[in-house]
Amino acid sequence: MTHFKSLNISDKKLHVLITGYEAAPFYKRGGLGDVLGSLPTALKKIGVDVRVVIPYYKVIQHAYIEKKIGDFFVRFDKKNKKVEVYTGTSNNKTIRFYFIKSDSYLSIPSPLSKIENIDEFAFFDLAVVELTSFLAKQCNWHVDIIHCNDWHTGLIPLIAKDRIPTLLTIHNLNYQGRGSTKVLDLLDIKDQDAKALKRGKVVNQINVLGEGIIHATRVSTVSPTYAKEIVNGSYHRDPINSFLLRREEESSKKKGFIGILNGIDYNMWNPDHDRLLFHRYNATNWQNGKNLNKKILLEKLGLSIDRPTICFIGRMASQKGLDSIIKVEDFIASEANLILLGSGDKRIENTVLKMSAKYFGSIRVNLVYDEKMAHVLYSSCDFIIIPSHYEPCGLIQMIAMRYGTIPIASATGGLKDSIINGTDGFLFKSYSKSSLKNTLMKAFSIYKNQSVYKKMVDLAMKKDFSWDRSAKLYKSLYNELI
Ligand code: ADP
Repeated sequence: MTHFKSLNISDKKLHVLITGYEAAPFYKRGGLGDVLGSLPTALKKIGVDVRVVIPYYKVIQHAYIEKKIGDFFVRFDKKNKKVEVYTGTSNNKTIRFYFIKSDSYLSIPSPLSKIENIDEFAFFDLAVVELTSFLAKQCNWHVDIIHCNDWHTGLIPLIAKDRIPTLLTIHNLNYQGRGSTKVLDLLDIKDQDAKALKRGKVVNQINVLGEGIIHATRVSTVSPTYAKEIVNGSYHRDPINSFLLRREEESSKKKGFIGILNGIDYNMWNPDHDRLLFHRYNATNWQNGKNLNKKILLEKLGLSIDRPTICFIGRMASQKGLDSIIKVEDFIASEANLILLGSGDKRIENTVLKMSAKYFGSIRVNLVYDEKMAHVLYSSCDFIIIPSHYEPCGLIQMIAMRYGTIPIASATGGLKDSIINGTDGFLFKSYSKSSLKNTLMKAFSIYKNQSVYKKMVDLAMKKDFSWDRSAKLYKSLYNELI
C-alpha cells in the first residue's frame, strides 16, 4: 500500500473520462451511483475537465431523453457493431455525460447479484476506449486518463494499455466479473499479457476485476482502512488474492493501492433543502424538525412514538450483515422501533419478513428500492444500524450523520474511517452478538440522557463529508498518472 507524501497538484488541465455501471441521477442502485453522480462536480470545481460515460439503459432512455451526437463501429465478436453516442448534462448542468447505446447489448442493467454478464461489459469497455477517439475527432476533447470503477470497467485497462493511462477504483472487491476466457476472443485480444496473467497454466476462467488490477496504471479503493484490509489478507482465500499479490509484488514499478474516502453530494443530501422530507431542518433547529418527522412516520406505521427508532437502509446482501440484526431481534424489539428498507437476496428478504411478522409491534420492513422513503428515514430516525461484515466505504453512515441520525455500525472499512466511536456514532465488533448488544444498550442509555445524545447529533451534523478533500487527492493521483 502507498500513501501520498504531498499533494502535488499541477496546473495542467486534466481531461478525465470517468466510467462505471451506474451514475446518479440517471441510474443508481448503490453507492457507486452516488459517487459517479457527485465526484465529477467536486473535481470540476478544482479545475479538472471531467466527463462521465455509462450505458444508455432503457430505464434511462425512458426517463431522460438525451441528444444523439453520433455513432461509430467497434470490432466485437468478429463483427462490426454499431455504438451510438448520446449526451446530456447532470442535474446541476455542470457535468457532461455520455451514454453508450447498442442494439445488442446494455439495454437492461444487470442485476446486482453474483450473476455477472461479462460479455456485455466487455463490449461496453471496448466502446468506452473507442469513445475516446470519437471524442477527440468529433468534440476536440482529448482524454488524458480513463477512471474506471469496479469490475464492469475492469477490461478497459487491458484494452487501453499503451494508449491511455487508467485508474481503477475498487468500490467492492467481492463482485469480480468471473466468466469464460472466451471473452478475450470477442475482444480479439491476442495480447500475450492476458496469457501472462494465467502464468503458464491452461485456464478457461477469467476474472475481469483481476485483469483490471494487473493492468491499470494505478489502483485505488474507497477508504484507507479497506485498502489496508485488502493488503493485509482479508481476501487471502478468495480467487482475487493472486491478482492482489501480483500487483503488490510489482508495486515498486506500478505502485500499490491507495484508499481515498468517498464523500457525499452536499447539495443532494441536505436536510435544510430536501424536498422529499415531511419537515426540513438544519444543524441548529434539528430537534424540532426531526421530532415532527419522527411523529408523522411512526403514526403512519402505527409504531410507538416514545421509543428510540432505528432504521436500516441498504441492499439485502450477505455483506450488509442482516444476520447480526436477527441475532439481537428480541432485544431490539423490546427496547426500540426498527424500520428496514432494502431489497435483494430473496432468502435474506424472507428472513427479515419473518422477523417483522414476529415483532409487528416494533419492527417494520419495506422490501423495495425507494429513494423518497430513504430520505424520509434518514430524517425521521434517531439511529441507523449498519452491521456490515465488510464495507469498502459506505455512504449511508455519512448521509445519516448529515441528517442527524446516529450510526451504530460495525468497525470495518470506511465505517471505521468515518465514525468516531462514542463521539458521533457507535462502532461494534463485526459478527459479535455480545458487542452489538452491548453497543445497542449503550446507545439506548445515551438516548435517554438527551443532553449527551444532543451533543452527539450536533457533532455528527457538523462533520465534513463533502468531496472537497478527497477530490484534491484524486486530482493529485491523476497528476501522477500522466
Ligand atoms: P452500497 O454501495 O454497498 O450499496 P453504500 O452505503 O455505499 O452501499 O450506498 C448505498 C446508497 O444506496 C445510499 O445512497 C443509500 O441511500 C441508497 N440505498 C440503498 N438501498 C436503498 C433502498 N432500498 N432505497 C433507497 N435508497 C437505497
